[in-house]
Amino acid sequence: MCQLNIESDQIDNSDKLNKTLIAMSVKDFDQFMVAKFPGIFSNRFKPMSETCMCWGFEIGPGWHAIIHNLCQKLDLIGNLIGFTVVASQVKEKYRSLRFYYDIIDNPKVTNVCRTNEEKRLAVEIVEDMVDAAEERSKRTCEVCGEYGECHSLAGWYTTLCNQHFQERASKIHVPPQ
Ligand SMILES: [Zn+2]
Repeated sequence: MCQLNIESDQIDNSDKLNKTLIAMSVKDFDQFMVAKFPGIFSNRFKPMSETCMCWGFEIGPGWHAIIHNLCQKLDLIGNLIGFTVVASQVKEKYRSLRFYYDIIDNPKVTNVCRTNEEKRLAVEIVEDMVDAAEERSKRTCEVCGEYGECHSLAGWYTTLCNQHFQERASKIHVPPQ
């Protein structure tokens, strides 16, 4: 059982934030995330010869809240244990979110004592969090963030709710003018 006392208005606030994130344009979301998580997105403006993060967030807005929630957790665990998860690419592939990253030591966090076993477990925690976010994206419409399922459209697999699947399907079946 959860023993943390979370006030109901905090839950409302995170719901409101998620809706705001999903409503953001690609550009606004990009700026918001880079400003809020400068460590995780420190590769954002490096050249393409160094990182795929130079392309920004290659995902639909329905997954904005999933990425934001993942980064909140990565930031927290990194600060507690003394490392930074640095994103190298965020994109959609085969209807699922993909979050590629490196884990680097954070020299600013010096008051932690880690054994090799603790480091190994910390890496596993990060892997589990990224896996969970990627799994969540497979059940989340990439357009609106509501419940979604895998659909095949003209040979492409996408995760969409019924409404957005119907909308895209109708566009695909419109004969060329
Ligand atoms: Zn939708």
